[in-house]
Parts: sequence; structure tokens; C-alpha cells
Amino acid sequence: MVVPGSHHTEEQVFPPPLELQNDAHVPDFQSYLQLYKKSVDEPEVFWKEVAQDFFWKSPPKGQFLQYNFDVTRGSIYVKFMEGAKTNMCYNVLDRNVKEKNLGEKVAYFWEGNSPDRQRSITYRQLLKEVCRCANVLKSMETGVGKGDRVAVYLPMIPELVCVMLACARLGAVHSVVFAGFSSESLCERILDSQCLFLVTADGVFRGEKLINLKQIADEALEKCKEKGNFTIKTCIVVRHVGDKMKNGIVSNKLQTHWTAGVDVWWDEAMASAGEECEPEWVEAEDPLFILYTSGSTGKPKGVLHSVAGYLLYTALSFKCVFDHQPGDVYWCTADIGWITGHSYITYGPLANGATSVLFEGIPVYPHVGRFWEIIEKYGVSKFYTAPTAIRLLMKYGQEPLKQFNLDSLKILGTVGEPINPEAWLWFYNVVGQQRCPVLDTFWQTETGGHVLTPLPSAIPLKPGSATLPFFGVQPAILNEHGEELEGEAEGYLVRAKTPYPGYQCFIFLIEQRNAAVLPTQSQHGKGLSGPGCRRDKDGYYWITGRIDDMLNVSGKDSKNKLLDSLMNNQAQGSQLVVAHRTTHCSMDYTRLNLVINTKKGIYCTGDAIDGLPVFPVTAGKILRRVLRQIARGEKDLGDLSTLADPRVVEVLSSQRSEAA
Ligand code: ATP
Ligand code: MG
Repeated sequence: MVVPGSHHTEEQVFPPPLELQNDAHVPDFQSYLQLYKKSVDEPEVFWKEVAQDFFWKSPPKGQFLQYNFDVTRGSIYVKFMEGAKTNMCYNVLDRNVKEKNLGEKVAYFWEGNSPDRQRSITYRQLLKEVCRCANVLKSMETGVGKGDRVAVYLPMIPELVCVMLACARLGAVHSVVFAGFSSESLCERILDSQCLFLVTADGVFRGEKLINLKQIADEALEKCKEKGNFTIKTCIVVRHVGDKMKNGIVSNKLQTHWTAGVDVWWDEAMASAGEECEPEWVEAEDPLFILYTSGSTGKPKGVLHSVAGYLLYTALSFKCVFDHQPGDVYWCTADIGWITGHSYITYGPLANGATSVLFEGIPVYPHVGRFWEIIEKYGVSKFYTAPTAIRLLMKYGQEPLKQFNLDSLKILGTVGEPINPEAWLWFYNVVGQQRCPVLDTFWQTETGGHVLTPLPSAIPLKPGSATLPFFGVQPAILNEHGEELEGEAEGYLVRAKTPYPGYQCFIFLIEQRNAAVLPTQSQHGKGLSGPGCRRDKDGYYWITGRIDDMLNVSGKDSKNKLLDSLMNNQAQGSQLVVAHRTTHCSMDYTRLNLVINTKKGIYCTGDAIDGLPVFPVTAGKILRRVLRQIARGEKDLGDLSTLADPRVVEVLSSQRSEAA
């Protein structure tokens, strides 16, 4: 199968920069191969060594690693360090303060939506705040305890990290819901995971827009009641926007409705809380959090990660992939409401005692150079973002970057969608000044951490490829019959033949609440509809998009040809492939009014035209299935809860009727 337009860049290989090699955790390709071999041949030995860095109140009772991946031999499971006792919060905070002497090190530089709001928090300060927060949660009328679910609907503020860790300290399970979601989405997630507590804020500014989070949260709780399933006992509200607001009194910015007996102001509760809180020693396989997937392929899935495996996997992948060094300032621009934020803003960096930037705002406010300004301001050395953000910022050209000094940058990374070679090269040449490796990291909510990823000093890069598997991961490529393909091949990516600790074991099933948690057997077996993937002659993996989003086209060398072949395809009626407007192509196809991506050919941006959205995007990706469904004229579009702007459905549907 030919991949249009990619044969040119595929030849381009970027060797690791020599400057990074001296102190690197994985200094060269040989070391990668050796470690990789050990991780898949002797997973138990490999992960036992990783676990030595962390604190275990008591060792595993039985084997370090137990698993069954063979459906014919009963249910599928993976258990890491079963019976061992530990605490996530202790490992990422107390251990750093008490054992590693990192108390005075900055854990987060918080940068507000508005450039004049900032705060820095050391490890010691964060530990104190977390203990106080844990004490607040414990002291509620029906206090938060082990196994209780806490819904967290907060913007990107330090309190968000604080609540997550406070839950972890108590053995409670957090369920963070992206603060851009609607009341309906929040309600569904609260009910699905049966949360007893909710933590939210009065409001948040996103750019110039003020969002009344408390009001949305109230609506969500109303909806929960209407569904006859009201589970929330207490709602803790962070005073973030309105300084003058108290118990329902109107502030200059927001009006906050107050429900007596349910609502509690965060600062008032925190004021009297103690600064010491003994961690709850939980079992290695106890749950740490629930997080819902992006809903790209259908209804979002609630994924449950457990303590020990997730700790080991996020800690090691953060350390090796970003080659974490003590002097680094690391910045991941994702929202904590997605798995990228959980693993690579909260847990992975803290487990390594890293200093991170926590950014509340958006890339284009108050100006389009905001990202570059923040990199200069904090001296960011490792920068992790999404292809959509890069494509957005590319449009403004090099001028906004020239005003800032980006010399501190050493390593760049991307996640969330395939990165097209043009965006990769722009990121590499313009942002990284041809000095910084660009790491295209492929993974999923279910995997907890990186699955396919380059390592900056060890793995030569090819733009557009997520390169090779991370430690412990043995990817396989299957054909449509579920047979494994060897060597150069293209098909479905199956991500594990042997277990690795980030591997999630359970999925919360919306609408199957009584079944509570079920193993995700389908992901191991045949007939799965996962990411499409190609393995090249060097064993490099190229994520080609989702199998069902792809289109086979024979156009080879130019985008025009590709578009032509798309038009022909459409003319032949094989599949409705439609283009609206792309960053690369301003051709006006009157009959083509939507874009979907085809292999590596066409990419679209999540832009608005005349204030109306043109693509169904979540915070980080395009919901291509929705484009496809609209294009086919389907009436039932399924779960749209993760859409950034639901109006897009109307806009696209009306465009479709016009074009028809
Ligand atoms: P859902 O599972 O609900 O359909 P989702 O798969 O988009 O949604 P996430 O777990 O947030 O939910 O995202 C994982 C998916 O994101 C991957 O399966 C893949 O499609 C895409 N993805 C992430 N990183 C990359 C990458 N580097 N290259 C290509 N695709 C990526
Ligand atoms: Mg998925």
C-alpha cells in the first residue's frame, strides 16, 4: 500500500544530537536495545529494578508480576506487585522532601491565563497543601475514605494537582473531568463512576472568555438528581475568579449559587485544616484514578489505573523519554483533564522530582507568541505539546517566535494525533532551531504512558514516525483476520504481547454499572478496531490514523494529485471524502465541504470561520468519526460529550445539505 507523499520524508533520518549524550539515561542505540531486550525477556527483573527507586511499606506477597494474556486460559489480567503496600502521594511528595532533599525545589511554576498571574510552589509547600486538602476531604460529614470516588472539575490551577494528590494520599479515586466539558458530560461521568464528592471552582477565564464553572457544576448536579441517581454529598468550590464572593453574595464578575449543606468554600475549609496527614497505605493493585477517553471512536470509556504499575510506568517513561535532568524546567501544554496531563504533568514529573510549568491559558492569548514567551520566561528545557497546537501556531509564521529567546530548549515532544512531516519539520527547524530532537509519542488513555516513542539520545528520528517501542512494550501488527504480520507490514496495531506496568486492567463501563469493572479483553484479541500502523524496513512504526478513518488512495507524489484522487474517489461514489479548507491548500472545491485525513496526505485545523467552528474537535483532536457520520448523512451521531463546541454539528450538517 502506498503512503501518499511520505516517501520523501521517510528517507530523512535525524541522528540524536551529541550534546545530550553525556548524561543521558539511555545514551545510545545499543543501550536502548539492551534495556529493551531485558524489559521484554525478563519483565519481572526489569521492573523490580525500577521499583527499587520507590517506597514500599511492605513487599509483594506473591510474585512480582502475574498475568494471563491467553483468552483460551481464562480471563485476562495483569497484576503488578500484588499485595505490596504503598502510597502514590508519599512516593511523589514525601519521598522527594524527606529522602531526596528536594523540599525547596520548585514543583510547579503556575502561569495564569493572564500573564500577570503566577505562583511558584515548592515540593515542601505542595506536600503541606496536599495534607491540608486531604484533611479537609476526610473531615467532611461523610468523609472521603479509601475507594471513594471524587469528581474533579477544575481548570489548570495548582488546586487541581493538590486534589488529585490528596485523593491519592487517602486511597480515594479521583475522576478528573476536563473543565471545558458541558454539564451533561460532567453529570454522566459523575454518575458513571458514582462519585460522592465534587471539587470545582467558581469560574475560569479562558482567554477573554469567562466561564462560570460553578453554574455548570450546579446544572450537572441537577441533572444527576433528575436521573434519580444523586450521589454527590459535598461540593468544594475553589475561589479562583471572584475575590469578593462569599456565600452567594454577588461579586463583580460571577454570580455563584450556593446550596447550603452541600457547597463548601475551599479556602474556608483549608484555613483550619492541619498540615500533617498520614498516608493511607494501599495495595499495589488498588485503584488510583478513573479517567474517560477522548470519545474519538464512540462513547468515552472510563479507564481505571492502579497505583503501583502506573507509578513505575509513568516515572520511568518520563525519566527516559524526556531524559529528565535535575536542572530541567519541563512544560507539557496538555490539560490535566486528559491522560497526558495525568501522566506527564502530575505523576511522572513529580515522581522524578522535576520542576514543571503549569499553564492555565491558551496559546493565542493575549498574543500568538504566548507559548514562546513562557518558554523564555521560565527557561523551559523540555517542551511537550500537541500537533494541533503546532499547526495552529505555524500559521502565524516565524515572526512571533523571533521576539523571544528559545535557547533554553533541549527536547521537544508531541502527542495526541499523528504529526504530519510538515509540522514536525517546522517544530524541529523553527522552534527547536535544529538543535532539539522532536519526539512523536504514541499512546492511549488505556496504556497510561508512552507506548511507541523515540528516546532523545538513543533513537534516530524520522519525521512522522513514533519510531520504536518503549521498554516492556511488544507491539504487533495484525491483518484484518487477526493474523500477526512480520517484518515490513501494515495493519492494526496491537500494543502488547507481554504486560508492562502502565497497562490498564479495567474499564468502567458506562451503562453497565452493575458489572462495575470488566477486563478489556477485546483489546488483546482479534478484530479490534485500533490505530492503523505500518512498520518500515528499519522496524520503525508509523501510525497511519484510525483504520476506519482511512481511505485508500493511489495518489503518489503531490498533494494536488492526492486531492484529485480524493475527488475521483468521491465521484466513483466509493466513499464520501470531502474537503473544506486546509492549511496547505486553498483550492476551492465547491462540492467538497469537509476534511478527513487520509494517511499522511491532508490535515485540517480546528479553526473557526466567522466565529463558527468548522471541525468537530475535542481539546486536542479531531473527531473524524463525526465528520464521517455527518458526511454520510447519519442522524444518530452518538456520544458528543467531548466536543469542544457542539454547534459544529449544525454548521456541518447545514453545509452538507447545501452541498448536496
Ligand atoms: P476513544 O478511545 O474514546 O475513541 P481516543 O482513543 O482518542 O478516544 P485517547 O486515549 O485520549 O482517546 O487518545 C488515544 C489515541 O490518540 C490513540 O489511539 C491514537 O489514535 C491517538 N494518538 C495519540 N498519540 C498519537 C501519536 N503520537 N500519533 C498518532 N496518533 C496518536
Ligand atoms: Mg482510544
